[in-house]
Amino acid sequence: MKALVKTSEAIGYEYKDVDMPKIGPKDVLVKIMGAAICGSDLHAYHSSPNIMKMMQLPIVTGHETCGEVVEVGDCVTNLKKGDLVSPEPHIFCGECYYCQNSAALNCLNMGLLGHTIGGAFAEYMAVPAHVCWKHPPGISYELGAIHEPLGVGVHGVMSGEINGKSVAVFGCGPIGMFAIGAARVFGATKIFGVEVAPKRVAMARQLFPDATIINSKEQDPVKTIMEATDGLGVDVSIELSGNAEATRLCFQALKREGRVSLVGVHPKAMEFDFHPNIILKEARVHGVFGRVIWQTWWQVRAMLDTGKFDPLPIITHRFPLAEFEQAFKMAESGEAGKVLLIP
Ligand SMILES: [Zn+2]
Ligand SMILES: [Zn+2]
Repeated sequence: MKALVKTSEAIGYEYKDVDMPKIGPKDVLVKIMGAAICGSDLHAYHSSPNIMKMMQLPIVTGHETCGEVVEVGDCVTNLKKGDLVSPEPHIFCGECYYCQNSAALNCLNMGLLGHTIGGAFAEYMAVPAHVCWKHPPGISYELGAIHEPLGVGVHGVMSGEINGKSVAVFGCGPIGMFAIGAARVFGATKIFGVEVAPKRVAMARQLFPDATIINSKEQDPVKTIMEATDGLGVDVSIELSGNAEATRLCFQALKREGRVSLVGVHPKAMEFDFHPNIILKEARVHGVFGRVIWQTWWQVRAMLDTGKFDPLPIITHRFPLAEFEQAFKMAESGEAGKVLLIP
């Protein structure tokens, strides 16, 4: 089958023939219908040090996906052929300290789909049945393929109280827009989005007319947020850009005793002044890495079931897998929302 493989530390991927993945007794074989490009895939493409540390080469990449179960291992009881599934890419063992303490997200033996376990930029993928989220009948594979990044946005929003809170989302790429949508559905009262790319600013303004979307090249985001919050700042800052300057701003825009959720992937270490930004403010800082298993998936489902937020318009481009170079260029241009690769 054809797949996108990271073969070495060199920049880029190879589109090549690889063996069909084989399933074990507890696995399923999934025919990939579409896979979305994640910010972490862009970092992997460019061989960013923080991501390369997490990868075991050579590896079939990609982890945000949806597909149809076409083969079922002998011991699998929860899935059958024809089921539409998305894998939780944090492949947890179910047996370690964290898995036994309702914290599978921090599993000690965690495999990462597309990083240490063959991923979804391929025609087929073998995954353990216990990490598959089964979609309800009737949902489109495109909506299925963005469940995982939707979950990142939802977990960022829901990693602390949100109902009745003011929120600023730094970085209005796809996950930032998912986070704004989630913040609205789950009861945030005042929402700000901060973004530099003009196309994304325009898209966020169109999708969320009741939020204040700040183009940080034209407007000072901290000043704008302070003016709109009686000089107090926001209750919750969610950092999704992975940009050092945006990360500093998200603390500056925070109310005292507020909560910062750090989600964006930082390609390298950054300098940061703890004293004014965290200590004097008594700020609560949450690291967000993926989704709470399976709580976040159920929250995504609940959010979609309200019908109050349709994330599908945030998918703006689709490319055949073979045209991955163009797809990756588009995904990092700042001109796109989510970009899907179709095998
Ligand atoms: Zn992802
Ligand atoms: Zn575990």
